[in-house]
Amino acid sequence: MNVTVLGAGTMGHGIAQVTAMAGHDVTIRDIEESILEDGVEAIERNLQGGVERDKLTQAEADAALDRIDTTTDLAGAVTDAAFVIEAVPEDLDLKRDTFTDVEEHVTDDTIIASNTSSLSMTAIADALEHPERAVGLHFFNPVHIMGLVEIIVAEQTSEDTLAAATDLVEEIDKEPVTVTDTAGFASSRLGVALGVEAIRMLEEGVASAEDIDQAMELGYNHPMGPLELTDVVGLDVRLDILEYLREELGERFKPPQTLKRKVRAGKLGKKSGEGFYVWEDGEIVGVSGDDDR
Ligand code: NAD
Repeated sequence: MNVTVLGAGTMGHGIAQVTAMAGHDVTIRDIEESILEDGVEAIERNLQGGVERDKLTQAEADAALDRIDTTTDLAGAVTDAAFVIEAVPEDLDLKRDTFTDVEEHVTDDTIIASNTSSLSMTAIADALEHPERAVGLHFFNPVHIMGLVEIIVAEQTSEDTLAAATDLVEEIDKEPVTVTDTAGFASSRLGVALGVEAIRMLEEGVASAEDIDQAMELGYNHPMGPLELTDVVGLDVRLDILEYLREELGERFKPPQTLKRKVRAGKLGKKSGEGFYVWEDGEIVGVSGDDDR
């Protein structure tokens, strides 16, 4: 099956990787060649890491990479796709425009999915002439490691679309949970609530970033604390989600100043090298000096 992924960023390249590993031909589309090159390099690194950890053979890694094509041309990227999965930034207008543009170039039975982590899938689907083909496929970061995909059923999503989306998720060896279209779905709403409270606690001087994270890792068996997870997700991504949840669900999701300040300063977490921690080559090497008090 031909699957097109729109966006080669944190999520897009991960979705492309796992889809290619499941044997599908994948095209990744982004707006600049250099971004596509970075995305493919990240996939190569992930696959090589998998080979080193005996998760897959070199031949399987090479075959997965061979099944991935890249382009900046939207029409060419989606014309033959059975599935299009968008992973462009979390902005409702951008996602709606993306869906409209995609529909102009696909066949009648192409399914168009969004990897939105919190936006209304019903509002995104509404941009389509045939909204019954729209569905949310919410992957988790890092995509090649996390086992869950939330399937978001918009008001307009047809039974056939839901069935096809469920099949795809199972084929790529992920566990689907099906969620109705509500702000933040199940996972983002709870995950962000924990993250935002952790940032407020840091602002109030309750404990250091490391101690807040350790409290959840050791006290509640979370594999990663809420501040480290915010760095991994991307502070900008979390800010976008919070602004939307605040609109939909109220002031308890008001973004903390610290988060806004860091995003304005380009401190976006792991991807930019600093968030609540300092990162080098994908590893934490220290704590951000910003939060000293
Ligand atoms: P990102 O900023 O890392 O990547 C977004 C990419 O989209 C960029 O490479 C950008 O150049 C590209 N882009 C922008 N406009 C485009 C267009 N019109 N066509 C194609 N590409 C375009 O963002 P991300 O973290 O990968 O997030 C993408 C989506 O996935 C968002 O909706 C986000 O909420 C969601 N999501 C993110 C995470 C996470 O942990 N980061 C987890 C689950 C879901």
